[in-house]
Amino acid sequence: MRAVSRIAPPLAARGGGGDVIRPVGGYTYGLLFEDARAWHPEAAVRRVRFASLIVTYRCNARCRMCHTWKHPSEPAEEIGPEVFARLPYMDTVNITGGEPFLRDDLEEIVRVVQARSRRIVISSNGYLTERIVRLFERFSRLGIRVSLEGLPRSNDQLRGMQDGFDHGLRTLLRLKSMGIKDIGFGITVSDANAGDLVDLYHLSRLMGVEFASAALHNSFYFHKMDNTISKPEFVAECFDRFIEELLRSPRPKDWFRAYFNHGLVNYIQGGQRLLPCRMGRDAFFLDPFGRVLPCNVLDEPMGDLRREDFETIWTSPRAEEVRALAGHCGKDCWMMGSVAEPMKKNLLAVSRWILRNKFLPRRRETPPQ
Ligand code: SF4
Repeated sequence: MRAVSRIAPPLAARGGGGDVIRPVGGYTYGLLFEDARAWHPEAAVRRVRFASLIVTYRCNARCRMCHTWKHPSEPAEEIGPEVFARLPYMDTVNITGGEPFLRDDLEEIVRVVQARSRRIVISSNGYLTERIVRLFERFSRLGIRVSLEGLPRSNDQLRGMQDGFDHGLRTLLRLKSMGIKDIGFGITVSDANAGDLVDLYHLSRLMGVEFASAALHNSFYFHKMDNTISKPEFVAECFDRFIEELLRSPRPKDWFRAYFNHGLVNYIQGGQRLLPCRMGRDAFFLDPFGRVLPCNVLDEPMGDLRREDFETIWTSPRAEEVRALAGHCGKDCWMMGSVAEPMKKNLLAVSRWILRNKFLPRRRETPPQ
C-alpha cells in the first residue's frame, strides 16, 4: 500500500465503485434546486448550518502536524465581537484557533455567537484550565473538545507541550465535575499515535465524555503540506479496531461515528471521498482577519466580513465561483466539519452501511482509486 501524502489526484483521474455516493439523481436535483433557491438571498443564507470560526492563529502548543503556531496573527488584526455579530443564525458553530483561550475577549465573542447559534463547541488544547473553567462557569451550555493526541507520551511529543496531557485531562475532569455535558477529547491520528486510538476511546467511555477522531490532513491553515501517513496499513488496522468498538457500542451515535471513521480509513488509503462535499454551500470557515472561506483547505476567500454583510458575501458572484472550485477541488478530505451535513443528507446510504457492518461480518472494503 502506498504512503499517503493526501495531495490527491484530480477526480477526473479516478475510477469509481465501492461505497462512494455519486451526485446523481436526487442529489443532483437537490443541488440544482438549491442553486435555483440561491437566487433568493434569504433562502441561501438560511441554508447555512455550520461554521468554524478561527478566532486566532496564536497558539501555545508546538504541534508537529500543524505549524499555525509559527505564523501567529497579531491581536490588533484579529476581528472583534462586532464582526462576529454579522454572522447568520446556524445550528452549530465551532470556535477554534490556534488556541481560542489566548483571546482576552473570548467571553464577549461567545456571548455574541451564542445569539447566532443553537450550539457552540470550542476546540482547545485544554492547557489553560483556569481560563477555561471561568468561561464555562458563565456559559454552562457551551461544548468543548480538548485535543489529546494519544496517551501522555504521544500527546506531549506530538503537541510539543510539557505536561500537555495532564493539563488537558485536568480541564476535562474539572468541567465534568461542574456538570458540563458537551465535553470530550479529540485526536488527530497519525503513524505516531494510531496505537493509542482505542485506549483513548476506552478512557473517554470510562469518563463518560465524547470522543472525536480525525486523520492527518495538509492545508494552508496548518502551514503544512508534507504531513504523510507512511504506514497506512497499520493506521487503517488501528481505525478498524476502533470501528469494531464503535459498532459494538449501545449508543446509536457511536454507530454513525463508525461510518465517519470508515470514511477516514478510505481517506488514508487514498480513496475517493464517500459523500459529496458541501463546504461553501451549507458551511464555511471564517479566519481571524474576517475572510469567509469555503473550508480550511482551500485558501479561496468569498469575501471580507469586516467590509460587507454576510448576505452580500454569501450571494455574490465570487461566492458562486468559490463554490464551483470547491465542487471540483479533488482533495477528497474527510473532516467532521465537511462530513456531518452530507451524512444527514445521505442518511439512507449511511444507515445501510451501519446495518450491514453491525450485523454482518465486517471486511475492509478496497477504496476506489
Ligand atoms: S473536499 Fe471539501 S473540505 Fe476538502 S478541500 Fe474540497 S471543498 Fe474543502
